[in-house]
Amino acid sequence: MNNYQVNENGYYGDFGGAYIPEMLYPNIEYLRQHYLNIMHEPAFQAEFQQLLRDYVGRPSPLFLAERLSEKYGTTVYLKREDLNHTGAHKINNTVGQILLAERLGKKRIIAETGAGQHGVATATVCALKGIECVVYMGEVDIERQAPNVARMKMMGATVIPATSGSKTLKDATNEAMRDWINNPLDTHYIIGSVVGPHPYPDMVARFQSVISEETRKQLQEKTGSETPDYVLACVGGGSNAMGMFYHFLDDEQVKLIAIEAAGKGVDSGESAATTLLGKEGVLHGSRSILMQTPDGQVVEPYSISAGLDYPGIGPQHAHLFKVKRAEYVSITDEEAMQAGLLCARLEGIIPAIESAHALAYLEKMNFTGKETVVVCLSGRGDKDLATYMKFFDL
Ligand SMILES: *Cc1c(COP(=O)(O)O)cnc(C)c1O
Repeated sequence: MNNYQVNENGYYGDFGGAYIPEMLYPNIEYLRQHYLNIMHEPAFQAEFQQLLRDYVGRPSPLFLAERLSEKYGTTVYLKREDLNHTGAHKINNTVGQILLAERLGKKRIIAETGAGQHGVATATVCALKGIECVVYMGEVDIERQAPNVARMKMMGATVIPATSGSKTLKDATNEAMRDWINNPLDTHYIIGSVVGPHPYPDMVARFQSVISEETRKQLQEKTGSETPDYVLACVGGGSNAMGMFYHFLDDEQVKLIAIEAAGKGVDSGESAATTLLGKEGVLHGSRSILMQTPDGQVVEPYSISAGLDYPGIGPQHAHLFKVKRAEYVSITDEEAMQAGLLCARLEGIIPAIESAHALAYLEKMNFTGKETVVVCLSGRGDKDLATYMKFFDL
C-alpha cells in the first residue's frame, strides 16, 4: 500500500523536513518530541472533543445541496465548515494547538494570518484560555479584511502589520518566525495551515482530519457507503483540503481534487496556481512546491481571495501531487465569484470566496448522474460581502 503520511524524519516522499534557523531548533525539536504523545493522551482527547462539540459546534452538517445537484446532474454534498464558530475550518486547528501549547507550558501565542480567519480563530481560543495573543498580518490584508481585524481586537489580540514585500500572508509569516526566534521559551507559534517545518504539517492535518472523519460517518448514514466518488476542496496552504482528504487517502477509488486560485488566469502573472506554476524548493521551513523565479526568488502570488494567495502548498500536498494521488486544478477569480453567487442563489448559502473556488470546479466536471461528490465548504462569505458587492455591482 502507498504511504501518504509523514515518515519519522518528517518527510512525505521528497517533501517536508524542517529547514529552520539554528535558533529555532530547540522549539521545533521540543514540539516534535511531544506533539504525538500529548495528542494521544486521553485527557487531551477528552478536552479537544468536548471543545469541538460545545464550543466549535461539531459535528458540522453534511448537507445534500439539492438545487446544485440538479444543476450539475449528480449528487452534491456540502461539508459545512462555514457553520463552525468563527466561520471556517481554521478553529479546528487552533483549538487543538492552544490545548497543546498549554501542555507545553507556553504563556504567549503568536500567529500569522492572511484572510484574517486564522488570526480570528487564534484570538478566539486565546481569549477562551486567557493567554496573550499577538497576530501578524500583511498591511494589504488588514485593509481588505477590516471586519476580521476588528474581531481580533475585540477579543484582546494585538494585531501587528507586516509592511514588507507584497504586505500579505507570506510576509506576515516571515514576521511571525522572526518573533519566535526572539521569544523561544515562553511563546508557541500557531501556524494556520499544513505548512511550515515538521511537525506542523502533520500536526495541523491531524487536527483538521476531524472533517473527513465526520464525513465518512455522515455519508454512511445518508448513502449507505462511507466513501464518495469525489472529494473537492480549495487549497491555499492546504489545511481544509488535507482535513477533507485525510481519512480517504487510503481509499484509492476516491478521487481527490484540490482547487488552487488561478487569479486573473494561470498565465496572467497574477495567480496563486502553485502546483501548475511552481517548482520544488524551500519555503517557510519545509521543502515543497512553490512559485519562484528561475533564480529562486519567491513570486508574489495573487488571488481575489486573501486565504488562497499563498505562493506555496503544504509538503503533504506536494507529495500527493507528485505521486498523483490527488489532482490539482485551478479556478480563476471570475469563475469563483460566479460560483459563489450561484451557491447563494441556489442554496441560500453565501460561501467564502476561498470555498467558492472549490464549488466552481463542479462546472468543469462531467457527471453521469450516479456520483456522490463532497465539496468542503471551508468558510462562510460574511467577510467577503464587500468584495462580492463590488464585483457584481449589487
Ligand atoms: C484560510 C482559508 C482557506 C485556505 O487555507 P487552507 O489552509 O488551504 O485551508 C480556505 N478557506 C477559508 C474559508 C479560509 O479561511
